[in-house]
Formats: sequence, C-alpha cells, structure tokens
Amino acid sequence: PGPAAAGRFPTEGEFLDQLDSRIRVVVRKRPMNRKEMDRKEMDIAECCNWDQVQINEPKVKVDLTKYTEHHQFMFDQVFDEETNNQEVYFYTARPLVSGIFSGGHATCFAYGQTGAGKTFTMMGRDGIYVLAAKDIFTMLTRPEYQHLQAEVAFFEIYGGKLFDLLNKRKRLWAREDAKGTVCIAGLREEVVADCDRLMRIIDYGLTSRSVGATGVNADSSRSHAILQITLRAAGDPSRRIHGRISFIDLAGSERAADTMDTNRQTRMEGAEINKSLLALKECIRALDKKSGHTPFRGSKLTMVLKDSFVGNAQTVMIANISPNSLSCENTLNTLRYADRVKEIQSRKVPGRGRPNMDKANKLDQLPPMGEPQEPR
Ligand code: ADP
Ligand code: MG
Repeated sequence: PGPAAAGRFPTEGEFLDQLDSRIRVVVRKRPMNRKEMDRKEMDIAECCNWDQVQINEPKVKVDLTKYTEHHQFMFDQVFDEETNNQEVYFYTARPLVSGIFSGGHATCFAYGQTGAGKTFTMMGRDGIYVLAAKDIFTMLTRPEYQHLQAEVAFFEIYGGKLFDLLNKRKRLWAREDAKGTVCIAGLREEVVADCDRLMRIIDYGLTSRSVGATGVNADSSRSHAILQITLRAAGDPSRRIHGRISFIDLAGSERAADTMDTNRQTRMEGAEINKSLLALKECIRALDKKSGHTPFRGSKLTMVLKDSFVGNAQTVMIANISPNSLSCENTLNTLRYADRVKEIQSRKVPGRGRPNMDKANKLDQLPPMGEPQEPR
C-alpha cells in the first residue's frame, strides 16, 4: 500500500456537519489482492484526502507514448484500503441507527463492480449489518425501547423478480395498496434478539441466494440482496412499522452493460439491472432535492424500497471500487454514477461553524463502539 493519505478521516466537526444531509455518498477502495500483485498490476486509485479520490488512468497515444490521465472526485467521504469495517460502519450506517429508533427509514446501499468489496462491506463476518444489528440489540434493552422488537427479512431481486431467501427462495409479489403503501405479500420476517441468531439466519439465506428454480446455480452478481431489520411493537396486531433499516448488496454494476450480450438470458438480466440502477439513482436524487415526485415505480428495486425514498428517510450509498489498472473503466463508471447520485455542493468553505450538537447528542445515545454487548 502507498503512503497513508493526509487526513484519513474527517474531524468531528466536519463529520457532524455532514449528518445534516439526508443522503450521503461515500467511496471505499479495497486493497490490491495477491493475484493483481502477482500480475504486477498498478494501483491506480489514490485516496488523496478523507473526501477525495483520484484515478490515475494509464493511457497510450497513437504514437504509442504512454501517459496518465488524472480524474478527481469528491464525495462525502472516501475510505482507503487500510480502513476496516468498524471504521466504515462508524461513519456510514451507525448514524442511521439512532434515526430508526425515533421512527424513520434508513437505507444503506453497496454499489460497485463485482469483486470490489460490496459483500465484504455489507454481509461479511464483521460486515456493517452485523455491527448495526449489535447496536440495535443493545438499544432494545433500554427501558424506553423495551416494547419494541427487531424482525429480520432477507430477500433477493433477480431478473426483476422477488425471492424470499428465508423461505426456500419462494417467489414473492410486491403490492401497492390504495394508500400507496408497498408491501411484499408473504415475506417471511423472523424475530431476532441477538447477533448469533441473526448470523445463522443470514448464513441460511445466503445458501439459497441466486439458485434458480431450475436448480442451476446462477451468479449472485446478477441479483440485489436486501436485508431488512424492522422495529415493531411486540404483539401489535396492526404490525405498524416503527422504524426500519435496509442493507442492500446491489448487483454488480458492470452487469448493467450486458445489454448487448449475445446470450438472451444474460442480455435480459443486464437490461433489468441497468433499469434498476438508473431508477435507484433517480430516486435518491429526488430524495436529495426533497422534490415531491419520486420515480419509485421505475423498477422492482425502487418499488420495494419506496419508503426509503419518501418522508423521514436517510440514505447512505457506499460505492466500492477495485484499485487495479484492469478495473479502471469500471472504477470510473462507479465513481461517475456515485457522483451523479449526489452532486456535492462546494463544501470547501473555510471556517465552518461549530459541530451540530443536536446530531452529536443523538450519536451519543448509541452504545460506544467496541463496548461488549450483553445478550438479551
Ligand atoms: P463483491 O461483493 O463486490 O463482488 P466481495 O465483497 O466478494 O466483492 O470482494 C471480493 C474479494 O475481495 C473477496 O475475497 C473479499 O474478501 C476481498 N475484499 C473486498 N474488500 C476487501 C477489503 N476492504 N479488505 C480486504 N479484502 C477485501
Ligand atoms: Mg458480492
């Protein structure tokens, strides 16, 4: 790895400033892997600062002289290859957790090319959903929240169809009622109270991910996996949602380009992924602009996540990138997509105000990071 970037993380004040925003877009670079190093590939992704990344694209002129084209991007935050999941969690999903207790919807997306680290970030052994769940279970032990329970659902969108990963990959349908509420009929939701149980449920779900009805093992890079943790009052017959956090491990962004593939099935899947990633971008942009119209009907993905795009919702998108030169084009595409999800207003104003104490107090309500968690 190269020299550590100047400021790897924002100061407390800089971080708290960002939390005013309903949508945050961050980038995470994974380390070079053994194969890439053995092939003597170059690391072309340079994390210049806690909010800046530069791609050094190797190019060749017609006369065969080599040169480098530099592409700079600015995001709410950029995590270099040394950053671990705890740190990513601290700056991304953790601030959302207190929000769902005060009754809101929070969504955390992992976007990027296959192999860039989406699953590692989200669903890995110490992935951010586990860290979020730990905080949620701890919060639930507090007197003011003891009437609530956490219910988990895990499903997949593959080729525009919904499949329940906790129920033998049963096909499901999303319905929108007269009031505009979208629900997935028959989706299995399991009450969970500790991380061991949650992890067993996820492991079980992952075994049935993308195994087609024909029994042929399809490629999980072509599906979106959605894990939802919903807070509800225990025993409430109306099953009203108190708060919900969704973690989405999106299909590989490079699959959106498969629309020209010679194989009909691949081409159709690519078109579906392309459609959903475009609709997702539009919905998040609408949330950012607080515009009245959210085009959530644009795809199955945005339709089932409708509540994430309206009202009191908070969203974080983690754009995962690979560092190696062979991935350059996909990396640039990922960064351009992430850039358009949220146009960062010129934030480089010198002498910012004081940290927003309201937000700081909210975060303080969460259990401190690394505190041992009592089983309930
Ligand atoms: P994706 O889900 O985007 O296709 P994965 O999460 O499966 O990618 O990551 C591809 C490989 O890279 C995996 O072997 C994973 O363990 C490894 N990897 C990804 N991100 C990191 C990271 N930040 N640090 C170490 N290894 C990583
Ligand atoms: Mg994956």
